[in-house]
Amino acid sequence: MRRLFLLGLALAAAVTAGCGSGPAAPEPGALRVVATTTIVADLVGRIGGEDIELQSLMGPGVDPHLYKPSAGDVWRLSAARAVFYNGLHLEGKMGEVFAEMNRRGVTTVAVTDCIPESELITSKGFAGIHDPHVWFDVSLWRHAAECARDALADLDPDHAAAYQSRADAYLAELAALDGWVRERVAALPEERRVLVTAHDAFTYFGRAYGFEVRGLVGVSTAAEAATADVQQLAQLIAERRIPAIFVESSVSPRSIRALREAVAARGFEVAIGGSLYSDALGDPAGPAATYAGMVRSNIETITSALAERAGG
Ligand SMILES: [Zn+2]
Repeated sequence: MRRLFLLGLALAAAVTAGCGSGPAAPEPGALRVVATTTIVADLVGRIGGEDIELQSLMGPGVDPHLYKPSAGDVWRLSAARAVFYNGLHLEGKMGEVFAEMNRRGVTTVAVTDCIPESELITSKGFAGIHDPHVWFDVSLWRHAAECARDALADLDPDHAAAYQSRADAYLAELAALDGWVRERVAALPEERRVLVTAHDAFTYFGRAYGFEVRGLVGVSTAAEAATADVQQLAQLIAERRIPAIFVESSVSPRSIRALREAVAARGFEVAIGGSLYSDALGDPAGPAATYAGMVRSNIETITSALAERAGG
């Protein structure tokens, strides 16, 4: 028990130290909240401010599809008033734990619950299952901010006005960010807007900003890329002279390297355009420490690599 307690303290310290957007230390008696991914933690932290004491379960660069909660995690979750998670099966191995938390009286909040179902994309080959990577469409992520705002106000009505005003400010920031993304993408010739990545995380991004999107594996990283899929994608890249493909910070670069070799075998040189932050934020000291920073970093990486002359 003592060891778990120390572990919890160490994690809390790490989260506090790493939270670039967190304004101040939590007020005494602040609402205890745990978020699963760094992306959800950033969102809840922006709206909760000093009125919550926030811990993030997964660190930067951690793949949420494969994350298995430890005994220490279960203890941390049990000690919280509420758990905020992405939902739509992003945290694929945590469903049991969420159900257990409900039984223990901990409120669980899926921040994607506020997104109208008509806006969700159905996963290829899985009828009725929605793609969880909604945050890549900044205008959809605004609904998640509303979800976090309303849940915090319900849990802690005394601070409802503060949650509301922080959410208003953040929603305005997100609207501006969405506009910035559209501007940057508009500068890239339309035929260059093809995004090839390790897993199918960018479908919402593609729909929102007009990119054709190809992932080597499906919406979860739990699957391995089949050789036939690698060859087929390599053929498409060589034929269309796509200048760059991208690795992801939370996924092994192995499959993207194999794809690059398969393209080279067809006599075309495709560049590795850089590393995109897909399912986790970057290092606390880096440019992708926040959601907005992650979006900007990805857009810079994508637009500069795809603007290069193919094969050059
Ligand atoms: Zn993913």
